[in-house]
Amino acid sequence: MRPIDGIHHITLITGDAPANVDFYVRVLGLRLVKKTVNQDDPTVYHLYYSDEHGSPGADITFFEYPGARRGAAGAGMIASITHRVASEDAIEFWEQRLRDEGIAVTREAGRLTFADPEGMSHELGVFERSDDPLIARSTEVPEQFALQGFEGVRAMGADPAGSERLLREALGFSEVSAHEWEARGEHRGGRIRFERSERRGVPGAGTVHHIAWAVYRAEMVQWRERVIAAGRHPTPVIDRFYFESVYFREPGGILYELATYDGAGFAVDEPAETMGETLALPPAFESIRARVEPILTPVPDVRRWRPAPAPAER
Ligand code: ZN
Repeated sequence: MRPIDGIHHITLITGDAPANVDFYVRVLGLRLVKKTVNQDDPTVYHLYYSDEHGSPGADITFFEYPGARRGAAGAGMIASITHRVASEDAIEFWEQRLRDEGIAVTREAGRLTFADPEGMSHELGVFERSDDPLIARSTEVPEQFALQGFEGVRAMGADPAGSERLLREALGFSEVSAHEWEARGEHRGGRIRFERSERRGVPGAGTVHHIAWAVYRAEMVQWRERVIAAGRHPTPVIDRFYFESVYFREPGGILYELATYDGAGFAVDEPAETMGETLALPPAFESIRARVEPILTPVPDVRRWRPAPAPAER
């Protein structure tokens, strides 16, 4: 079996889709690669922000529950997300840009931390990695400063020992420093670092709903069997149309997903150049379009932040 190929995507909750689009697309310079609905509750959005191609490894997604109360990270939750940037100059750019937006930032050598408008903690860092940078084109963020995909996450647990045992014994992660674990596959590496915390988490807006790890289609069933052998209780393999998924709770309570790296991808139902600009519904949900489209919150038109195609692409 090939190792887990780092982080596939990370899914959060927002109570305010328009502000969420404004922050992740305009401020952070990511591309909205898919505007669709939550397949488990198709009356609410599922918004996917990513690099230019919607690649696994750069994909941060949100379920919108309009008006949802803010949550707070605690035991059994992901507390922050670290994204890669290219250089100390990029850190400098982001420090200034976020301050200009009125966002509080903390800068240390090679690192910048801040929170999104609903309190989700993010960190930007410069890392020596051979992985391809996964970047989006944006009118707002020059390419050399763009976010380059996930480095990892910080997780909280009352007793991380069980969480770490699952990573080592069932999921093939290696410990790269104390309580920090890496899954490194053919394309990418992704990390999770556990911190002990007794504080109870409160799910809600501005918190992580689940983290998905990238696996290959041909091995999904074997991964699921490994998870069962480790005493967890995964769902069946679910076809999410853009990729396939299996979900389970890890011992500390964090919801994990295994998602296929080599799924259909986001350009399967829209042209790659315009994907994300209009509401996309997988075929199984097309019949409810007339019912859901009017009740979804209008969000900003992201085309204003899309640069014209480069001359070579015309
Ligand atoms: Zn997911």
